Amino acid sequence: MTAKAGQDHVEIVEVGPRDGLQNEKAVISVAQKAELIHACAAAGQKSIEMGSFVNPERVPQMADTGAVMRAVGALEGVRGIVLVPTVRRLQEYILVRAQAQFDMGEIAVFVSATEAFSQANLGCSVDESLSRVAAIMDKVPEDVAVRGYISCVTDCPFEGLVDPVVVSAIAGRLQDLGCDTLALADTIGKGTPDRVGTVFEGALKHWSPGQVGAHFHDTVGLALANVDVALGQGVRSFDSSVAGLGGCPYAPGAPGNLATEALLAHLSAAGYETGVDAERLTDAAGMARQMVGR
Ligand code: MG
Repeated sequence: MTAKAGQDHVEIVEVGPRDGLQNEKAVISVAQKAELIHACAAAGQKSIEMGSFVNPERVPQMADTGAVMRAVGALEGVRGIVLVPTVRRLQEYILVRAQAQFDMGEIAVFVSATEAFSQANLGCSVDESLSRVAAIMDKVPEDVAVRGYISCVTDCPFEGLVDPVVVSAIAGRLQDLGCDTLALADTIGKGTPDRVGTVFEGALKHWSPGQVGAHFHDTVGLALANVDVALGQGVRSFDSSVAGLGGCPYAPGAPGNLATEALLAHLSAAGYETGVDAERLTDAAGMARQMVGR
């Protein structure tokens, strides 16, 4: 397959160390988390979601993010992404970043496409969550990139089918607020390729495809079909989780995050270049499975 110059590179954003581990039951030590991050980096992953500065009572699995960032030490050529939900947590991030020996120059902020999921996940309305993003944008250092996530872009576990017009409007708000990139998440993995296509089309009214990422779950085996739809619309950034870490909280036993190995194999077969080495990724996946006891 021949691709035009500059169009054949796809970025894989590794979310295993944060989104993945957060949804696993096993208790993982600071040293193990740092080791997994290094294993992903050794496989050539350049963009890794590493932790989350959230309320430790709500998300105990991520209470040690500051310690993990210190334990990572030096890490050449990798940018770490951490989740920051409020201005208060942004202050914590800034302090930890100042001590980090690697590039912690990107944060992720989250809003939901539905009111019910927003209340369940963030404890506030959609509007309030957008105000929180606005407050973060106001205070975030200029050299930090902000990746704005919208959860439940096709389906909500509480409200069912999601209106793509609503998602498009929220995508526009995140653009207006100054986010650098947008990431659309099919949080429960029920999105079908046709509906995913419609949702991305709506978001692309406000964003150029090169600024948009996708986060799919493989709950019903549609993740790769949805990746193809987004690729067809020019999207070149996809989240995935090494070893598929992170079950789906709403469907016990069902596969959760799209596995990085599956995404890499799929992209490579289609002729896309990612910079990720399949063999070393297999090593990282083996380590990840061992950590969570699979
Ligand atoms: Mg996920």
